[in-house]
Amino acid sequence: MEPVVADRGAARGAGPRHGNLIGGAWRPSSGDAAYAIRNPARPGEILGQFADSTAADVAAAVDAASAATSEWADTPGPQRGAVLWRLADLLETSRDELARIITLEQGKALGEAAGEVGRAAAEARFMAGEASRPTGSTYPSERPGLSCHTVAEPLGVVATISPWNFPVVTPVRKIAPALAWGNTVVFKPASLTPWSAVYLMTLLERAGVPPGVVNLVTGSGSVAGEALIQDRRVKGISFTGSTGVGTHVYEEAARRLARVQLELGGKNPAVVIESEDLDGAAREIVAAAFLCSGQRCTALSRVIVSEAQADALAARILDHVHRIKVGDGIDPGTTMGPLVSHAQLRSVEGYVRGGVESGCDLLAGGRALTKDPEHDGYYYAPTVFDRVPAASPLALEEIFGPVLPILRVRSFDEAMEIVNGTRYGLAASLFTARASYVHEFTRRAEAGMIHVNHGTASQAHVPFGGVKDSGQGAYSIGQTARDFHTNVKAVYVKW
Ligand code: NDP
Repeated sequence: MEPVVADRGAARGAGPRHGNLIGGAWRPSSGDAAYAIRNPARPGEILGQFADSTAADVAAAVDAASAATSEWADTPGPQRGAVLWRLADLLETSRDELARIITLEQGKALGEAAGEVGRAAAEARFMAGEASRPTGSTYPSERPGLSCHTVAEPLGVVATISPWNFPVVTPVRKIAPALAWGNTVVFKPASLTPWSAVYLMTLLERAGVPPGVVNLVTGSGSVAGEALIQDRRVKGISFTGSTGVGTHVYEEAARRLARVQLELGGKNPAVVIESEDLDGAAREIVAAAFLCSGQRCTALSRVIVSEAQADALAARILDHVHRIKVGDGIDPGTTMGPLVSHAQLRSVEGYVRGGVESGCDLLAGGRALTKDPEHDGYYYAPTVFDRVPAASPLALEEIFGPVLPILRVRSFDEAMEIVNGTRYGLAASLFTARASYVHEFTRRAEAGMIHVNHGTASQAHVPFGGVKDSGQGAYSIGQTARDFHTNVKAVYVKW
């Protein structure tokens, strides 16, 4: 269960050195290479060293997962469910410790990190139940003396590839259903957040997952991730990340007809029109826009408001934005932590500079909060722009930072045109008191998830996913995840 393999080769003060988990054993990468991760709130602080895995490590992990497939698939569903139930318990009892790790390596406020662990426990518990539920159907037969039914069988080895913004709930969202329906897993976490992944593996071990059933390889997407998506023994790839990398995963999987479940980027709109509760709308919008410093696929990242309500809404949005307390996520008073990396900070700065130069009204923020981010942290002020044109990059592209553009419209139809005017289709919110708009919005918005009079929050048992460039394959969370994790076999029996 001990994830620390050695201090050998690690520089002094470089923190503990962690290995990969392959076939039930913790080991360094085959080339013994390791890389360090840093605290985004104090980048001088090195948190630990992690295996920089090679293609050989990935092949060994797929070997181990392949060897474990039959036994795990033959383990009765309720027993697999019992393991997931224990995982849920362990996530709950380890919540504070794991939340601290998330905050240290990812930056989000501690309360948010604890919420993420709680959500992971809830999703694992739902999947524990799924392992005991029916996996097939019976059908009336066209012919007498013949019965017809279906069973759902595991795919075999599946890959979990996850991003850095939700380093616990995203892997659990993939690994728990994989295990519930009898698959084995090779997990490649984001290279910025491997510590949460290592900790999660220790919980899976303690929950009783047999050796080889879940394997961890840390390291880069370009080497470890690439080797994983190219391995022909991997029958399904569940990927969450950017649309660019997701498209590449889809192409590689298509070459060998492997299945994919892709959860990708978003540019989620909040339409506000004829609302009778502008303060409530502003509160929901600000929470959904700035949680995790805006680094959420489901972040509300553009407000589309009728001219009639625009001034009043903007004032209320600013009220709520001014209450955000930016700081080190570990401090209990902090409500918004730093961005995850310097690259992310520079990307946000670029978008904001473009917005200012093109004449958008900067209402709040618009600047990094430290002079020397590499020393003092990747902090960026919560930023609001008004009168943003629909063609602006601020209005069209996924910024993945604490930047909220406001677009003003003259009609509901104009709002809908803008809602559907990006490449993305993940989540969409509407704030209104008019019932006909609710129906029109629900029908016309091109999005996988619709929210009326609340922000883009999901629940632990409700299907989650997107359309257009936001996703492909079966929705995760809840029962729809089974369509990714199983093959249907139709059985005809004559007696
Ligand atoms: P990336 O697409 O850059 O990376 C995601 C994962 O893929 C990481 O583990 C990465 O490794 C890995 N990877 C990179 N290149 C390859 C490759 N060639 N083959 C296999 N794996 C590879 O996304 P980010 O980590 O930057 O996350 C941010 C993105 O994730 C945003 O676009 C966001 O919208 C999206 N996202 C979507 C969600 C959804 O549910 N729809 C939820 C959360 C985020 P490495 O870290 O080493 O680069």
